[in-house]
Amino acid sequence: MTVVKFQIATRRSGEYRTISVIVYDDLGQMRRDATRWGKLYSANPNGYFDQALGVAHRWNGTKRTSAGIIRLWRGALGAGLIAHEVTHLAIGIYQHDCNKDLFEIENEEILCHLIGELNAKLCAALWKRKFYEKEGNEHGE
Ligand SMILES: [Zn+2]
Repeated sequence: MTVVKFQIATRRSGEYRTISVIVYDDLGQMRRDATRWGKLYSANPNGYFDQALGVAHRWNGTKRTSAGIIRLWRGALGAGLIAHEVTHLAIGIYQHDCNKDLFEIENEEILCHLIGELNAKLCAALWKRKFYEKEGNEHGE
């Protein structure tokens, strides 16, 4: 089993917040690790990940630098899925640092699907039109 771990960070909420990212070769291992984490730490310990291609876990209600974990499977690293998982963590950071009453979980899931799908479609359209021939841009975004 191969996993690659790294961190990304942001100060956009006014606080320094990090996200741990784990990329798996083995989809089954990603799902098993997500389930184990969920049973230990999640507010919804019966959450299931047997269909998940990516998972976002976030720390709720405690003051931490770490906002949470994003688990990705190397077979599904598209712009839509990444935007979906990042949005879960962005909502967590925003709620914790800026507006605690922003979302109910059902609305959050719909928002993450909207952002993921629209991001995937926009990126696919940009690829098709050859806007991504060069890696990144001058702003690194
Ligand atoms: Zn989701």
